[in-house]
Order: sequence, then structure tokens, then C-alpha cells
Amino acid sequence: MQRKLFKFNGGVKPATYKTDSTREPIKAVPLPAQLIVPLHQHVGGTPYPLVETGDVVLKGQRIGAADGNVSSAVHAPTSGRVVAVEPRVMAHPSGLTTLSVVIEPDGEERWIDCEPISLRAMSPDQVRDELRDAGVVGLGGAVFPSHLKLKPANGGTDTLVINGAECEPFITCDDLLMRERAEQIIRGAEIMQQLLQARRVLIGIEDNKPEAIAAMQHAVSARAAGSMEVVAVPTRYPAGGAKQLIRVLTGIEVPHGRRSTDYGVQCFNTGTAYAIADVIDRGRPLVSRIVTVAGNVERPGNYEVLFGTPMNHVAALAGIKPGTDRFIMGGPMMGFRMPAYDVPVVKATNCILVGSPELFPPPEPEIGCIRCGECARACPADLQPFELYWYSRAKNFGKAQEYHLFDCIECGCCAYVCPSHIPLVDYFRFSKSEIWARERQKHAADVARDRFEFRNERIEREKREKAEKLAAKTAASRAAASMAAAAAPAGTSDHSEDSKKALIAAAMARAKAQREAIAPQNTEALPPDQQAQIVNADAHRAAIAPADGNIAAQPTEKSPAEG
Ligand code: SF4
Ligand code: SF4
Repeated sequence: MQRKLFKFNGGVKPATYKTDSTREPIKAVPLPAQLIVPLHQHVGGTPYPLVETGDVVLKGQRIGAADGNVSSAVHAPTSGRVVAVEPRVMAHPSGLTTLSVVIEPDGEERWIDCEPISLRAMSPDQVRDELRDAGVVGLGGAVFPSHLKLKPANGGTDTLVINGAECEPFITCDDLLMRERAEQIIRGAEIMQQLLQARRVLIGIEDNKPEAIAAMQHAVSARAAGSMEVVAVPTRYPAGGAKQLIRVLTGIEVPHGRRSTDYGVQCFNTGTAYAIADVIDRGRPLVSRIVTVAGNVERPGNYEVLFGTPMNHVAALAGIKPGTDRFIMGGPMMGFRMPAYDVPVVKATNCILVGSPELFPPPEPEIGCIRCGECARACPADLQPFELYWYSRAKNFGKAQEYHLFDCIECGCCAYVCPSHIPLVDYFRFSKSEIWARERQKHAADVARDRFEFRNERIEREKREKAEKLAAKTAASRAAASMAAAAAPAGTSDHSEDSKKALIAAAMARAKAQREAIAPQNTEALPPDQQAQIVNADAHRAAIAPADGNIAAQPTEKSPAEG
């Protein structure tokens, strides 16, 4: 029986440009002269380097360790020698640098010892740790660490969705992967189903990929699992958005601010399923992925690319045509223009779209919003893009957030239909980055304030403790004195008073004798140099003596402020 499908709101139907890059099978890429492997290739903490310049590494050797649980490891994509660990320009429109491990391949492709992982011998937590240490992240573009998503949802996971929709124009890497490696994808889906304890698996593929659908159906039917189903979904951009595909397959509408796991559904890309099977069954960490090269090239196609390979090295294999003026990572709707041609392929690189002014003419000049509402009708996330636009333009970020700015998946449908040619997504990206920057600043200010308060508190505490100790010491000596007085035989106190007086009188007599010995009238009889010494000593004493002559009034210890 045909599965009932549901519609998501909005969406558009741009030309797909997918045929040219699917004519040939996935091809290998010769090793480049250098691989530049950024340590930070995913959402979460930046891995810390495990290698130094001069180290010899094997293919699959861990070169960056996950920094905490919300992170993922990074591995040497080939064997060779580390020639630098330094910041390099990353595959991001900002052109910023990130700490990278630069490897000169030895050409031997020598793997580490790869041991398959036994799911029976390990607890689910141990398997998740293995996936983190194998560097598995979402390969659909989100690059979120997969091990974090492979926990059963509160209340259980009902449905695991495998996303093979691949709706963005030009991109065909998932299509080719499904055609050629369906078995491993299904195996990966099985492993994920087991970890999530999901009741069923639905594999959604846009109906413009008949070969992929057939291959995946064949792989599923060969398993007789019964709880897995390949479903052809209508081709409509962005059917590959997680919430949109979940809506189409299950009818569940995930509201603003909620997650699909709140409704018992988890979603993974086909490439991620393939990578998980590779880790578990072959013990091989993630060191490469399939990348589409399309656009202004002679031979569009798909390549298996080692992470760290410069993009121009891959694109050259497809024959870059004259007139090329940009590389876009991703597709024309959601992709980013790269800051240079030689930035490295990373885990998020599903496509290198080679652009030219002919292929992507300059945008028409932006004119004012006419409030036609077309953008809202096209928005698959049920947002009001023109409101978001107004608030972003006015830098009223609070209001933009009220209008669910962060539910925007940056699909570009609104900008695609806008008759005023407003680059709406650029405004939304700007607002998001401003909000994040302010959040970071606020966080930094909070940390500084906490530190300041903690220091003040410590100083006060130390002062208090010091005063308490002093008070205790004084009390103890007083108590000792009164005990001694009480214990002394009768009459001894008068005697001791007398002896004190005698001692004081003797001291005074000695002082008087000394004063007379150095009286001013006597100095005249001394040689001039000794007279000068006495005058200098007097002047010095006068200079350091307090005004009232009270020595006890001079400071004897540092004030807390100095300390
Ligand atoms: S489509 Fe463009 S012009 Fe129309 S309401 Fe939206 S932003 Fe304004
Ligand atoms: S880019 Fe954002 S606002 Fe525009 S249509 Fe897509 S989800 Fe809606």
C-alpha cells in the first residue's frame, strides 16, 4: 500500500541542474601536494592537536582529540609527515583562519590498524564514544556531532528518518552515494536504529532520483528487517530540510522552538549513515566524503575527496572553464562564496560549485519592500520574512528573535521569490551573527564580573580571618596573664613593681649620659667630617619622624588595597 504523504508549507521549484553530474560514477582524487586539515570542522568545541610539526602520521591516525563531549575528533586523511600546525584560511566566507594540521603525503596511503567494533561487546555509551572519537558528524551540511543525536529521546524514539532528499540544485553527492553504496547506508541506518531503539526507519528520497530509490529499495528488501521503508517524496525545495522531510513523511509539524525529538523523531543524512557503517564494520574513522563538482566546469561529477584537499585541486579534475570568478561551497540557494580557491574540503563540503558571471549574474539592484507577502507564502518555516527583514535592517534584534529568527533555515526561498530583489537571507545571517557576537560579549562580561566579585570576596574573607586570629591571640595572652597573676604568691606583685621601677630609672640614667656625650656644644670639638655626620643623622631623623613624634602612628603593614 502506498504510504500517505503530507505537504509542507511554502517552498519553491527552481531548476535542478542535476543531470550532468550524475552521468559518471564517483571518482577518486589523486593526492595533492599538501593536505590542510582544520581541527575545527563541526559544531562544538575545537579539538586540541595531538601532533607536532615533524611527526609522521598514518592514514586514520587521530590528529585532533574531541574537546569535551560536544565535539568530535579529527584524523589524518593520509599517511605522511606533519609539516605545520598553524592557522590557515578556513572554508568560510569570513576568510578567517583556524588552527590546521598541514600534512605532506608520502603517497603510500598506509592505514592505522583498523579494528571493527562489536556492538554486542560494547554498551551504547561506549559505541557513542567510539563514534565521537572516529569524527562522525552530520554530513548533510549541519556537521553536528552524530554521537550526541544517537541517544533515545525522552519518551523513546519512534521514527528514524534517513534524509536522502538532496533538494538543492546542482548537488548530487547523496544521489551517487545511494546508487553505488546503498548496502552500507542501510547497514548504517540499522546501527542507528539499534542505538536509538527506534520502532521504524523511513528513508525519504526526492522522486527525481529513480536510480537511487531503486538501489536503496533493493538493499532494504535484501534484509527482511520489516521496519525500514524507502519513500519517494515529491521534488520541491527544500524537501531536504529536516523539519520539512519529517512533515512530509510523518505528518508531524514541529512547532517553533521545538525539536523533532520532542515528537519521537530523529533525522540523519545518508552520508552520515554510510560513515557510521564504516566506523563500526571496518573500524575506519571519517577521513573523506563525496563531493559534487558542478557549475562552470567541463565535466561535472562526484569525487571521493580526502578532508584537507584544496578545493582548486578537486575542481581542476572537472576542468574549470574560463570566466570562473568564484567557488561556492554548497548550492546556489544555501551555499557560501569561499574566500580563496585553495581553501580545504572539510566535513561540511557537499559541493564545490564553480561560478562565473554568466552562471550567476550580478543581482538586480535592491528596491524597497512592497509588502506583497510573497516571501511569507514561500517560507517553509512559516515565518514572516518581511518582518524579519524590517527588524534586521533596523538592528532591532530583540524583535527579530521574537519573530523566530533562529527558526530560519536560510533556505533562500524568500529571496528567490522577492520581486524587490532584497537579499533577505543576507539580512538574516547578519542579524544572527550580531546576536551571537553580543551573546559572546555578554558571556565574557559575566565571566569578568564573576571573577571580580570572587576576588573581592576572597580579600574580605582573608581580612576577616586575620582579624579573628588576632582577636583570638590577644584573648589567649590576656587569659594567660590573668592566670599567671592568679597563680603568683601573695606580695610578689609589689616586689615586681619595685624591680620594674628600678629598671626604668637605670635606663633613663643611661640615656641621659648618652645625650650629654653627644650634646651640640661638644660637637664643636670634633673633626669637621664627624660634625657633618652628626648633622646629617639629625636631619634624617627629623625627616622620618612623624609630625607628633608618635612612632606607633607609622604604618606597620600593607593596607588590603596594596595587597
Ligand atoms: S517578497 Fe520582498 S517585497 Fe514582498 S513582502 Fe517579502 S520582502 Fe517585501
Ligand atoms: S530563508 Fe528563512 S525566512 Fe526565508 S524562506 Fe527560508 S526559512 Fe523562511
